[in-house]
Amino acid sequence: VAQRLEKFKTTIFTQMSILGNKHGAINLGQGFPNFDGPDFIKEAAIQAIKDGKNQYARAFGAPELNSAVASRFHQDTGLVIDPEREVTVTCGCTEAIAAAMLGLINPGDEVILFAPFYDSYEATLSMAGAKVKCITLRPPGFDIPLDELKAAVTSETRAILMNTPHNPTGKMFTREELEAIASLCIENDVIVFSDEVYDKLDFEMDHICIASLPGMYERTVTMNSLGKTFSLTGWKIGWAVAPPHLTWGIRQAHSYLTFATSTPMQAAAVAALEAPESYYTELKRDYSEKKEILVKGLKEVGFEVFPSSGTYFVVVDHTPFGFGDDVAFCEYLIKEVGVVAIPTSVFYLNPEEGKNLVRFAFCKDEETLRSAIERMKLKL
Ligand code: GLN
Repeated sequence: VAQRLEKFKTTIFTQMSILGNKHGAINLGQGFPNFDGPDFIKEAAIQAIKDGKNQYARAFGAPELNSAVASRFHQDTGLVIDPEREVTVTCGCTEAIAAAMLGLINPGDEVILFAPFYDSYEATLSMAGAKVKCITLRPPGFDIPLDELKAAVTSETRAILMNTPHNPTGKMFTREELEAIASLCIENDVIVFSDEVYDKLDFEMDHICIASLPGMYERTVTMNSLGKTFSLTGWKIGWAVAPPHLTWGIRQAHSYLTFATSTPMQAAAVAALEAPESYYTELKRDYSEKKEILVKGLKEVGFEVFPSSGTYFVVVDHTPFGFGDDVAFCEYLIKEVGVVAIPTSVFYLNPEEGKNLVRFAFCKDEETLRSAIERMKLKL
């Protein structure tokens, strides 16, 4: 394997799902719903295939989808953007992240990350040859240590890569934190890559898109996808919204990475983005119930559960159970208890910082959540 990928192993989500399957464990690890997305979107995909929408899409997105993304962005942020020049459709948000790094970061450029971070960030930054600086968010609140951030952002900094609502912690960046990031970026001419795939799962406060703050749109790449909002993680339809000068770099990378994204799924994505407001209200209500079941259960099992404001994840401290670290705990949990969780140490530059924390997902039907809790109550 090339040096730039040497330190990365099989992703922790894949590792844990494989181990879980081998032991017949209930999977509260990898964040995918164990229920399907809405029928009207699935029907739209089938219809698109039958209608012969099966050849290459336009490289940077089917025109109807670029427009649907622009209009959703307008609804969410109030900003009017040009679908032809400011939207790029990608193979999931993961490709949007990779295309943004490879298309806009030069070798040696300094990029700031918040730990714990989603695993693909560090790997794609490594592919781009970036120099990574990391700010750690600490429990219980995982608030941004603003003094540390201020000290870290300098004229050497090219970009900040952030994620709100935040995977794995469920933390949502507050207006005050976003304003602090914005003013540092403007002062030091830094761009922001913002992964907002959990924006519709904002339970305790309203999600704020950093691109909507004054002076930020022109220096922000906002990335999102269909997967979480519509329970279609396997469809891999994502997008990046950015001003033309940043979109150009993203499109150049995208053109030579995947060229274009699945044509019939893009047609179905248009139908998804036209969902009525009630779809989002119901989604949030369903997830609030699931979250309550999981959080209450984990507390009864004996974990310290940290507050999660958004996403479908919660992070707990496993140390009451006396295991050495998060990986040892998760292995025991799979093999002896029959439940999969995700150890968080791989989400830090310094794995020590994550060794007390594990993540559980609640994007599962209620029976699955209750059975997992039962198993933990009995065997932990
Ligand atoms: N985003 C999902 C999670 O955090 C996992 C995606 C993957 O398996 N790479 O669990």
